[in-house]
Amino acid sequence: MIDDRNPYRLLPKVDELLEDEKIGELLDSTPRRIVVESIREELDILRGDIKALSLNEEQILDRKYGLVKSIIDRTHRKHAPKLRRVVNATGTVIHTNIGRSLIGERVMDNIRDISMNYSNLEYDLDMGTRGSRYSHLEDILVEITGGEAAMVVNNNAAAVMLVLSTLARDMEVIVSRGELIEIGGSFRVPDVMEQSGARLVAVGTTNKTHLEDFQRAITEETRALLKVHTSNYRILGFTSAVSAGELSQLSREYGIPLIEDLGSGVLIDLSKYGLEYEPTVQDSIDSGVDIVTFSGDKLLGGPQAGIIVGKRKYIEDMKKNPLTRAFRVDKFTISALEATLRLYLDEPTAIEEIPTLKMLAMNMDEIGEKAQKLYDILIDGVGDRGLNLDMVEDYSQVGGGSLPLEKLPTKCIRISSDSISISELEKGLRQAEIPIIARVYRDELYMDLRTIMEGEYEIIMKGLQYSLSKIGGAIL
Ligand SMILES: *Cc1c(COP(=O)(O)O)cnc(C)c1O
Repeated sequence: MIDDRNPYRLLPKVDELLEDEKIGELLDSTPRRIVVESIREELDILRGDIKALSLNEEQILDRKYGLVKSIIDRTHRKHAPKLRRVVNATGTVIHTNIGRSLIGERVMDNIRDISMNYSNLEYDLDMGTRGSRYSHLEDILVEITGGEAAMVVNNNAAAVMLVLSTLARDMEVIVSRGELIEIGGSFRVPDVMEQSGARLVAVGTTNKTHLEDFQRAITEETRALLKVHTSNYRILGFTSAVSAGELSQLSREYGIPLIEDLGSGVLIDLSKYGLEYEPTVQDSIDSGVDIVTFSGDKLLGGPQAGIIVGKRKYIEDMKKNPLTRAFRVDKFTISALEATLRLYLDEPTAIEEIPTLKMLAMNMDEIGEKAQKLYDILIDGVGDRGLNLDMVEDYSQVGGGSLPLEKLPTKCIRISSDSISISELEKGLRQAEIPIIARVYRDELYMDLRTIMEGEYEIIMKGLQYSLSKIGGAIL
């Protein structure tokens, strides 16, 4: 017996929905089980609402009308890859949470060419015998940095560990207390050092360390002096640190190698482009440091990697350390890093083609033009939807624990509203098909044009429309 007043009778069956034309199209590109799951879940939601909200027949038919679209949206969300592209509207150029450095067109071409074909990754084309995967990067790193030899591992943390393990396992390494840093993700330099098997001897105080502190701590067991670039913070005021040059003299006097963890690894003097001066890898080598380590994906603007350059005799020992096999880089990294380093052979090309450098060097005129374009598109697309939009001057950040005090003048689109919750708007942007990551400050939303790319204006407009449609019911 069918109860005419049973509201659930108005809902379609799963099989009926699978016959729908639009859902049929969906089945061409999506596994059936995911579509069926989405149909069940959307029907469950509707049943729940019928009960909880006591929907009447008219309201149910209304919802049924939008059912196929909800199923399609849900399927797209479910079937979307977990690791997804986002729009960086934060203005932080080297943002570790959303991918650090971007790869440019020419570098991508090289990755594609190498990874879609076989390559001489570990093959010596002259000899016709086995070769070394490290050889491809060594010459160019030597040429750019002025070091004698070079090698590359998976990231800078691995590089520091490999260096210490090779030079000072079960022995002592002297480091200033002012440089025992944490680098994010609760990752601490002293912990990495201890994992390497080296014994840490901290000297000096938080704000001041002198050359004599190092000298007095040298014993028979000392195998290295270590300098760590305090990339992500600065101690200001009554301070002193021992320079690489001074330490290098001491290291030569005692025949103990000097290691420097530079962190960011900048290869170009960025002060020419309006940034604070940051010691380059070349400066470090020039001041007599024996082994320098740095990241591939911070200021260098390449793939994730840990680069080690310096004296050949130490680097040859590192290549033989079993940790090298555990930290070894794959062909994606090698092809990306080699192509990135080649761009550095001509500085203007590097600034133009390495996205990280291009964004850092971008001037106010360029950013202002971008802001005007995005502003016009947004006014067109969402100008009448209860949002106040304007263009304001603000500051971008370098990020990635690099140049922490640097404030780069920039332009932002600022969005406020008297009727719409800005935190809901921000949340909706994060849930858009291509999520948009923006900053909220004092109940206003900021989108910084330094890190937004030209092709992303429409995506942002659509993201805002999506967010507004989601919070349609959440009017204050
Ligand atoms: C970022 C950083 C590291 C870690 O480098 P990863 O490439 O992220 O592993 C180590 N030391 C310093 C000083 C850093 O700034």
